[in-house]
Amino acid sequence: MTDASKLLDPFIVQPPSLDERRAARIAEREFGKRGTVTELGGERDQNFRIDADDGEAYVLKISSPADDVSSLDLQAEALRHVSRTDPDLPVMEVVPTIDGSPWTSVDDETYLVRMFTHMPGRTARGPELDEEALYEYGAVVARLGEALRGFFHPDADYDILWDLRHTSELRSLLDSVTDEQRRGLADRILDRFEDRVEPVFDSLRAQVIHNDLTLDNVLLDERDRVSGIVDFGDLTHTALVSDLAMAIASVMYRREDPIEAAEAVIRGYVSVTPLEEEEAGLLADLVAARHLTWGVTVAWRLDEHPEKTDDHSVAGVDDGWELLRSLDELGLDTVGRRLRTAALAGDVPYSRIDTAELESRRRQVLGSSPLSYRDPVHFVGGEGVWLYDSSGRRYLDAYNNVQVVGHANPAVADAIGGQARTLATNTRYLHEAPVALADRILATMPDELDRVLFVNSGSEATDTAWRLATATTGNDGAIVSENAYHGITEATTAQSPAIWPEGFCPDHVETVQPPVDEIPRRMHVDRDPVEGIRESLATLEKRGSGTAAFVFDSLFTSDGIHPPEGERLGSMIDRVREAGGVVVADEVQAGYGRSGSNMWGFQSAGVVPDIVTIGKPMGNGHPVAAVVTRSDIASTLYDRTGFFSTFGGNPVSCAAALAVLDEIEERELLTHAVEVGQYLRDGLQELAVEYELIGEVRQRGLMIGVELVRDRATWEPAPSETTAVVNGLRRRRVLIGSTGEDGNVLKIRPPLVFEKGHADRLLEALDDVLSEQSVGN
Ligand code: PMP
Repeated sequence: MTDASKLLDPFIVQPPSLDERRAARIAEREFGKRGTVTELGGERDQNFRIDADDGEAYVLKISSPADDVSSLDLQAEALRHVSRTDPDLPVMEVVPTIDGSPWTSVDDETYLVRMFTHMPGRTARGPELDEEALYEYGAVVARLGEALRGFFHPDADYDILWDLRHTSELRSLLDSVTDEQRRGLADRILDRFEDRVEPVFDSLRAQVIHNDLTLDNVLLDERDRVSGIVDFGDLTHTALVSDLAMAIASVMYRREDPIEAAEAVIRGYVSVTPLEEEEAGLLADLVAARHLTWGVTVAWRLDEHPEKTDDHSVAGVDDGWELLRSLDELGLDTVGRRLRTAALAGDVPYSRIDTAELESRRRQVLGSSPLSYRDPVHFVGGEGVWLYDSSGRRYLDAYNNVQVVGHANPAVADAIGGQARTLATNTRYLHEAPVALADRILATMPDELDRVLFVNSGSEATDTAWRLATATTGNDGAIVSENAYHGITEATTAQSPAIWPEGFCPDHVETVQPPVDEIPRRMHVDRDPVEGIRESLATLEKRGSGTAAFVFDSLFTSDGIHPPEGERLGSMIDRVREAGGVVVADEVQAGYGRSGSNMWGFQSAGVVPDIVTIGKPMGNGHPVAAVVTRSDIASTLYDRTGFFSTFGGNPVSCAAALAVLDEIEERELLTHAVEVGQYLRDGLQELAVEYELIGEVRQRGLMIGVELVRDRATWEPAPSETTAVVNGLRRRRVLIGSTGEDGNVLKIRPPLVFEKGHADRLLEALDDVLSEQSVGN
């Protein structure tokens, strides 16, 4: 006999076969309960319902001869423990014999006999249950785990094949799986299990669990809420997450969207017991293992004991195989991601709604606020460089710079949660967090910059910078680049030609071209920017406003991504200072390691600004921003009016920002951005050899612009082609954007945790889209 078949012993041993009259006699003689007896179902035990004369109902359980006194004691003690730790959980109570024992025996001690209180309710199949019922079921599964958490019993090492730790032992039974497709499926699932689950199984949280908490073993009331948990015969000490995996497995059959049902159970479970990362990542494999155990053991039992075809667990096994086939077809990785997302998403204070309904409700309450793509994407989760839509599809994010250390970064989430659970006040009280953060930020800046003012958004930061500039200089004119974007406030909108309405050009604002290397190459660049800034300064002087500030995005992102040429930028800055203005580097987009090697874009250009604004990636998605400047400039606001922002510098935002800095440092993301950025640029340049449409690739670190032109000689911009490429990539589940005055620059700006393998995927998809585009031309 193989090891695995030994673990199946309890199911092979001949179950007891007492008749109802005998059961009635035992109930009366041993337990003092007289009444009507009805036989109930049972896999390896025999169960009888006793409607006793005392008006109560009981269950008389005649155990399989495979069960010994120690396993009965384990069950009785566990039930007692649960009744003590969570008295509201509907578990059966042990009814003692007349002389006070928890069990007795009959037939010369062949069969051990117990009596329990009868639990009300009915059993249901998965498809009958709605989302709420599934959620509640998941919550009950977690509660039982929690109730058993502190339970110990010397015989809790009950060894049975249903314990998922033994999954790979199914291999020795595979000869009984004669259907070739099923056999192949079983091999694939076991390969994955051995690869992904087995090596870590022993490090998962473990305790005594029910170990068979499927829908077969819960009773439901008329509202489909759990009214009883039965059959504690498989109790054993193993991985806690197994109970959840088995519960999920049991709701997935014959459902149109089995994963949706699983997600509901998971959400209920994690509302009581959050999963650990590793557990969440293994759910799909554990669910598959559970189904496989069922399918393979049934096949083996039919092989060894053909007479047992009427067995209860044989019925429906084809549905189990069918489900496994469909999960395999979807890909266990995809299924796993969806289950993981549901498990780690946490409890959110809104209910999920269908994408079409969401779109229409959004329009009603948020109006026509812009959405990316005509056919918008409905994301429900993220991890690293990946985003997941509501159907569980995965998208490669090569666009969102805010999540600089990756989507749903656990270190940042923990920092936010930890501080939120501790204290969230404001900077009018002494607190370490804003001081620690200011120290960390200043350590990355040139020595001259020694003060930090905390705000909540990039717009507030640039707006505050503008107030500092006007207060310091006494001037009120601004110079910005031709297609700059600096924010949504009145002052910063005036400095954002990118969003000026047609014909709008405030008197106090002048524009200049980005200080790029090869000016003559681009037909639409018509004057030397150093010359240009001289003219702008003179114009503002003539108008009487003078120049308060030259404000520039250090990578000239919205101008089409033009990493500046240092010397030219330096000359522009000199001219501005000579004219009495200050220099503001807007690092809201270009900062936080985007340019690779340096934390800030201006450092890559070798210049030192007077004021720096930072935001966007600063909290990896949590709103936090700041102005960094010199003390003499900061004092113009501090001394005159004081400076206070309710949320600016609050400990929760600071905790997020500190965690981001830690992640950048620990993961050496600046060096990483240099390497991956160059790799991506090289790949893009190879594509530029093949595709005429690519006019130029401009890159610094992981900020990359690919300018698309219809004709390399005339440099005619290709905006519609650019939109088509962005949409083509979206269809291939890769996210990028576009920028530039003519909207003809592909904007590639991924989270800094982007790897070379991700770059390959982006390049392949782009190659594919461009080849389509060329055919279209
Ligand atoms: N400056 C720059 C360079 C930006 O890119 C942005 C945002 N796109 C802002 C300022 C404004 O930041 P926020 O949207 O956080 O107000």
